[in-house]
Amino acid sequence: MTEIGYYDFHVHVGEKIGGHDLADGFKDLKRLTEREPNPENPPLLGIGAFVTERPDESLTDTYHRMQELAAQEFGKAVKWHLTPTKAMIEEIYPLLAGGADLKLYTSYREAGLYSSYEEIERWMKELSGLKTRILLHCEDDLILQGSSEWRDFRQPFDHTLRRPEIAEDKAVDLVLNLAVKHQHPVHIVHVSSPVAALFIKEARRSFAGITCETSPHYLLYSEERLREANAHRYLCTPPYRKESSRGKLVELLQDGVFDILASDHCAFTDELKDRYKDDLPNLPKGIPGVEILFTSIYEDLVKPGKITLEQLIDLTLTRPKELMKGAQTA
Ligand SMILES: [Zn+2]
Repeated sequence: MTEIGYYDFHVHVGEKIGGHDLADGFKDLKRLTEREPNPENPPLLGIGAFVTERPDESLTDTYHRMQELAAQEFGKAVKWHLTPTKAMIEEIYPLLAGGADLKLYTSYREAGLYSSYEEIERWMKELSGLKTRILLHCEDDLILQGSSEWRDFRQPFDHTLRRPEIAEDKAVDLVLNLAVKHQHPVHIVHVSSPVAALFIKEARRSFAGITCETSPHYLLYSEERLREANAHRYLCTPPYRKESSRGKLVELLQDGVFDILASDHCAFTDELKDRYKDDLPNLPKGIPGVEILFTSIYEDLVKPGKITLEQLIDLTLTRPKELMKGAQTA
């Protein structure tokens, strides 16, 4: 019997982000795992979730607390992505040896998440024995600083100008160089730029350990949505891109450039977002997606014949299952 279900390798749940509680905890995902095995609306089989080191607790302690919570409240496979902010290799090594992987960011300096390219290279050297996969959020911080300096954040659409595609292209290029140089597995998260996707396609010819994901919202929506009413509720990072980029991403998906689809589920309540409607720099950014990861693409790309059902199953079940190796199972 063929397996029916999907994985979402990129889900923010049960954490605080930028000082704000995410709308969802592990228990909120439980009902998605209990769906009937309907091939058009399959159950969630597992997720990739994040543990970010906090100022008031060691990464190890936060990790163990969240593992327990996930086992109790979710009860399905979880692949853990760890983000150290201060922790050193000695602390993290046993956690990675136990099956977790690493998530690093080339931006978010204010939030304390930023890693320089030198630091990313240092992790690759220190993990040369384990070859732990490193997930990378790629937006070049210097370019972001430059583009935000001359552009105030008054309208939701300004987000697209303050975080341009070229910032993603530059960071992806530099990170890929490091991956190839050290033959170190990397996974580029939420690719939203077609140029960055082409860099990845090219780099894979030199090193097969490079994988990447894109998210349904970059395939289905363009930046024009950020001119609509209540657009502040749709702000996420990277932002929605130009219509021409969206179209190219769909073509690249058809060509098999993306290994997986993942939602980057990062839900905040509308009530919280509305509170920051006139303070966009501080508005918590992120949109929900785990619930519709499969169905949105099924409706909008499979039914109109843009990709096949087999491709969608590959992108949401077969390939993510390979990346889920080492996951915690309850
Ligand atoms: Zn994310």
